[in-house]
Amino acid sequence: MNQAYERGTPPPPPVTKRQAAIVRLRAYLSVGDTVYGVVRSVSRTGTRTLDLYKLTDAGPTYLSGWVAQALGIKRVNSGALRSSDLFTIVYELGYSMWPDGFDCIGDRCPSNDHSNGHLTMHHANGGYALRSQSL
Ligand SMILES: [Zn+2]
Repeated sequence: MNQAYERGTPPPPPVTKRQAAIVRLRAYLSVGDTVYGVVRSVSRTGTRTLDLYKLTDAGPTYLSGWVAQALGIKRVNSGALRSSDLFTIVYELGYSMWPDGFDCIGDRCPSNDHSNGHLTMHHANGGYALRSQSL
């Protein structure tokens, strides 16, 4: 690469695999969406591998590969995540996708701020942006 930058001009931010995966996921997942999970396999050592989907009228969209990249792991399984709990995985995903939190979407808003009785237009914790449900 032979790129010249003017003095004082910051170079463009690096696009990592994680960032690229998050950009892809943002095309499919919005605040308030539900990520569905199913345990695909259990290894002899007990590692549980999960498949994650978004369900639409057009059918299921397989998300596991992009979710793994977004979380910086090889596969969505309990070995990589130290958890096979779907809620925890989807929480980590939301936190990765909305690191600065998200704006309230109203009636369908999944933020736990509402169950805590807080009224706010912006939720600081992106971990609650998505819902999770087992298939
Ligand atoms: Zn809200």
